[in-house]
Amino acid sequence: METKIEKITADSLAVAKKIIFEGGVVAMPTETVYGLGGNAFDDAAVQRIFAVKGRPSDNPLIAHVHTDYDLLKIIDYDPPYAKKLREAFLPGPLTLVYPSTGKVSPYVSCGLNTLAVRIPSHEGAQAFLKAVDIPIVAPSANVSKHVSPTSAQHVFEDFNEKIPLILDGGACEGGIESTVCDVTGEIPVILRPGLVTREQIAAVVGDCGEYTPDLSAKEKVKSPGVLYKHYSPRCKTVLFSAEETQKAIAACRAETGRVAVLGEHAILAFVADMGIPFLDLGETETEMASRLYDLLREAEKVCDVLIAVEPKKQDGVMVGVLNRLRKACVSTDIPH
Ligand code: AMP
Ligand code: MG
Repeated sequence: METKIEKITADSLAVAKKIIFEGGVVAMPTETVYGLGGNAFDDAAVQRIFAVKGRPSDNPLIAHVHTDYDLLKIIDYDPPYAKKLREAFLPGPLTLVYPSTGKVSPYVSCGLNTLAVRIPSHEGAQAFLKAVDIPIVAPSANVSKHVSPTSAQHVFEDFNEKIPLILDGGACEGGIESTVCDVTGEIPVILRPGLVTREQIAAVVGDCGEYTPDLSAKEKVKSPGVLYKHYSPRCKTVLFSAEETQKAIAACRAETGRVAVLGEHAILAFVADMGIPFLDLGETETEMASRLYDLLREAEKVCDVLIAVEPKKQDGVMVGVLNRLRKACVSTDIPH
C-alpha cells in the first residue's frame, strides 16, 4: 500500500473521510502528537488500529470529537467539575475519562468501564473531525513502544506502506501527549501527566489527585498505558539525575559505540568540549516538551547509547516530560 502525505485541504479531507468510512485508518495532526485515527463506532476499524500499531489489546484508546456538543453525545454522567474543566481547557491537550455508555465500539475501552474523550484544538484535527463528523479513536501514531510522532515524517518512518494517508499539519507544538484525567470520582485524578498540569486543574476545580497504580493489588489498573514501556528510541538509553551529570559524563567515556547526551541547555557547558553530540532540549518547560520526541528520534540515528540527563525543573509540565523520559529508558514492560 502506498502511503501518501497530504497537506490538509478540502480534497485530502474528502479522501480521508472516504478511508475512515470504509474502515481504514488515517494519521492526523493534533496539538500534542500525531494520532492514528479510525471510526470509533466501527469494531473492525478499531481492531485494525491495534493491529497496525502492535498495541497491547488491554491498552484503551482515546475518542476525539470536535465540539463539546459531540462529546456529550457519547457520555452520560457529567459532574459539574468536569464541565468546568472542559470550559477551562478544551479544545486542548486534556483527555477526560468518563463512565462508559456503550455508545462506541467496545474495543475502544478494552474491557474497562470507562471511556476517554478529548477535543483537540489543532486546526487540522478540527477540520478532519468536522469533515468526518463522528468520534475518531486515535492513539499516538507510532509503532507500539516507539517514540511518539510530532511530525508527518515521523509517522511516515513508522507506517510507510502500512496506512494509506497521513494528513500533514506541520510540527506539533505541544510535543507530549495529553494529560489524562479521570472524572468518574469526587475529584479529578490524573492518570497520565501532560501539558495541562495538576496545578492548573486544581486552580480551576479546587483539588486534583494523581494516580499511582498499586501493582501488588488485585484491583484492575485504571490506566493500563502506565504499565508499558513506551516512547523508546531504538538505541540503549540511560537516565541520570541532574546531580549525576558528572557521573553521566564519566559513563559517556566508558561506553563503547557512538554516544550522545540529551539534556537541558544548561548542561551544554559540561559536554561542549567532549566531542560528543549534544541533543539540546532547550531552556523552558514548553520548549523541552515540544523538542523531546524529535530529539529521541534523532538519537536513534546518531548514537548507539543515549545518555539522558534529567532537567532540574521537575514540576508543572516537566512532570509529563520526566514521565516520558523515564519510560523511554525502561527496558521492558512492567509485569501485570
Ligand atoms: P495514546 O493513545 O498512545 O496517547 O495512549 C492513550 C493513553 O490513555 C494510554 O495511557 C491509555 O491507557 C489511556 N486511556 C485511554 N482510555 C482510557 C480509559 N478509559 N481509562 C483510563 N485510561 C485510558
Ligand atoms: Mg502512545
